[in-house]
Amino acid sequence: MFRPHPSGSIAGTPNSEPQNVQHVSQQGSQRITGKLLATQGYVVGIEVSGSGARQSVALANLDGEILYRVRRPLDYVPDSETVLKLLDEMLADVTGHERLQDGRILRVGVAVGGLVDSTRGVVRTLYHAHGWDNFPLQDYFAERLDVPCIIDNNANAAALAEVQRGVGSGERVVLYVGLGRGIGGALVVNGKIYHGETCTAGEIGHMLVRDDGPACSCGHHGHLEAVASARAIAGRMIGLSVEYPETVAALQQLTGGRTERLTADQVFRLAASGDRVAQHIIDEVHSYLGIALANIVHVVNPGMIILGGSVAKAGNLLVQPLQERLQHLCLPAAVQSLRVVQGSLGSEANILGAVTLALQDV
Ligand SMILES: [Zn+2]
Repeated sequence: MFRPHPSGSIAGTPNSEPQNVQHVSQQGSQRITGKLLATQGYVVGIEVSGSGARQSVALANLDGEILYRVRRPLDYVPDSETVLKLLDEMLADVTGHERLQDGRILRVGVAVGGLVDSTRGVVRTLYHAHGWDNFPLQDYFAERLDVPCIIDNNANAAALAEVQRGVGSGERVVLYVGLGRGIGGALVVNGKIYHGETCTAGEIGHMLVRDDGPACSCGHHGHLEAVASARAIAGRMIGLSVEYPETVAALQQLTGGRTERLTADQVFRLAASGDRVAQHIIDEVHSYLGIALANIVHVVNPGMIILGGSVAKAGNLLVQPLQERLQHLCLPAAVQSLRVVQGSLGSEANILGAVTLALQDV
């Protein structure tokens, strides 16, 4: 079990909260900046996924720069006990005394790949993983590190990072779409995450787009995640290809004979190179994503839609057709200034999101 470092360098007490910094400006007069200097301490960002594929812990300065990071992916779906034990070990490494030369840890932010009640600091559920239902993760880390902790859904965290330090900088109404193994989403309005009444706002992976569609991770059928997530795209490609020898050969070549490693952006590239099976699947992805996003556009009227997650690696093969589809499907006034863009933080968005969460109230 992880405990704060015996030196007490991690532990905080109300009396040792950092104070505003006094600067001597170029003119020589003193002023209070109200902002902490980056040398006054650190924050920790933690990324947790339900699949086990993404566990990472990062130490960052107060400018949000990651100074040190540990990743420990698992190739199986672990239960909560296994993940927490792993995270304890990673935290002990990341918060080692030798790394904390310029102060102590002030906050922890956690980006969780599942349903989170951020108001209560509780994980509602991580689909497919055991032991997370109603887990008080915020208290868990706050007690272990003896500093305040903030937890949120990973799409919300990634969206906040893209708005504060990525491609969404300066935008007023941003819809973030995280197209990974599952599909997450987030709405950031005037720099703040919109959580909704029970913290499920932005769960666009579970929008119904196809009445008779395949089963979703949540148990229902026809949800966007079941037809447009990385897992759905690769799975469908492998399933449909069996009747097409040329496509099977192309898949074998592309994956070095390990088709189970096929990625969604490879399917996009296959489609672009003329493979008919891949084209059919990608047409459907654009079609269902287009339906979901057009519906959202008419409700929230965003200025920017940011596409993140592994599927977004397809770049313009995803972005351009989607932008065109939205222009076609939506009221002209709703899309006249809408831009659909690829996220600029790539696979770092979640962990940078966790760090950004931690910096929210520092
Ligand atoms: Zn669902």
